[in-house]
Amino acid sequence: MTLPADNEVSFKDSVNLSFDIARATLDIPDGMAQYIRNVNNVYQVRFPVKIGDEIETFIGWRAVHSDHKLPAKGGIRFAPHVNQNEVEALAALMSYKCALVDVPFGGSKGGLLIDPSKYDRPTMERITRRFAFELIQKDYIGPGTNVPAPDMGTGQREMAWIANTFNSYRPGDINHLACVTGKPVSMGGIQGRVEATGRGVVFGLREFFRNESDVKSAGLEGGLEGKKVIIQGLGNVGYYTSKILQEEDGAKIIGVLEYNGGWLDPEGVNVEDIYRYKVARKGLKGYQGRGNFIPDSALLLEAECDILIPAAMEGVIDQKNASKIQAKIIAEAANGPVTFAAEAILVEKGVVSIPDVYLNAGGVTVSYFEWIKNLSHIRFGRIQKRYDEGKNEKLIQAIENSGHIVPKVLKEQICKGSEEIDLVRSGLDDTMREAWQAIRERFWTHDEIKSYRIAAMSIAIEKIHDSYRTMGVYP
Ligand code: GLU
Repeated sequence: MTLPADNEVSFKDSVNLSFDIARATLDIPDGMAQYIRNVNNVYQVRFPVKIGDEIETFIGWRAVHSDHKLPAKGGIRFAPHVNQNEVEALAALMSYKCALVDVPFGGSKGGLLIDPSKYDRPTMERITRRFAFELIQKDYIGPGTNVPAPDMGTGQREMAWIANTFNSYRPGDINHLACVTGKPVSMGGIQGRVEATGRGVVFGLREFFRNESDVKSAGLEGGLEGKKVIIQGLGNVGYYTSKILQEEDGAKIIGVLEYNGGWLDPEGVNVEDIYRYKVARKGLKGYQGRGNFIPDSALLLEAECDILIPAAMEGVIDQKNASKIQAKIIAEAANGPVTFAAEAILVEKGVVSIPDVYLNAGGVTVSYFEWIKNLSHIRFGRIQKRYDEGKNEKLIQAIENSGHIVPKVLKEQICKGSEEIDLVRSGLDDTMREAWQAIRERFWTHDEIKSYRIAAMSIAIEKIHDSYRTMGVYP
């Protein structure tokens, strides 16, 4: 592919150019590589909804990038700027993400061109149900074919409407709840899904900081404690990432960016406090905490810090600002926040990107757990919790009978059986640790691989290729 003069390409081309570099490190037949790289199918739908006295037409997409494993998985985005190119790029990222973290799904994504802030709740419900119906009709939603989830502009509320719509068109399908993930817990959702992407980002960062050579490669040392962090986007992912980093890891959140202004406090903001203010006032202007309001929030991307966490949308670090980035690490909590052209500049500068396909995989990982829960029709931990508690109590008893005293706090910790949330977090932690070990191993042992992104992509492509080969696509 030839690059345009300013080197910036579309989001989809950006993903595909990284694919090409990663694929060149692998021994895969050309035809298969082309097949894996491209989107398998995309459905565009237009549908009318009566709103007040008017009929409005909406346009949406659901793309399946890869169905080497089924169902294909990925969120549905409601946004006023979404387009087919973006949906296809995001679907491709879903394929690589799932393969990388061993979540046995293909990759898909959906988008509806809408500004959700313009409609009240009952209208949003009608629009969402109609969009869901269109997708169900064409088999773009179903427990074994294609399973949506929340993304930008959607959440538990929309997932509940989608699940309920699916159920009304497929009455008697005992697995209907598995047709969508990210549902409210009262409707078959799983504990820990709302925080999952943010918590996954933190698990990924912790694993990075456990490996001294990785930390050194970014020009840093030590752990997460006291590290200066700037976070772009205080939505679901940004909120949980920064809250957990602050409360559990002792990181200092020195900057927060929203599209309509940012906040800088070198001593560290109180995440919970500033988040509440942002939700109530739809921005940070007027916030009374320590520090300063920065009207041109994009400038904060270029401020001095240890870790910059883009947690909102694609393309925020591009050819124009990449050379000005002062962060040592870019932790990609969003999908596609660094363009292909920017990546080259950052690698040259020695800025380390922990790539999106790895770092934000926590959402889909916990979606996988939710899907399993829905298919098994039982909450994780329900059967063994009390049994484990009984066994652990006997163990403590035996230790104490031998004359040792077990402190009360420790006793409680050991005895407590696992709740669903404990198991979800532990499964997510394990997933993020294992995947990082694979990425770093590939990065450090292959001279031709110059970034963790290319290491991650090459592992993902290899796994997808293996699936097709063992499936018998070619001998
Ligand atoms: N939209 C999220 C993502 O980009 C979650 C996808 C899912 O859970 O299926 O990873």
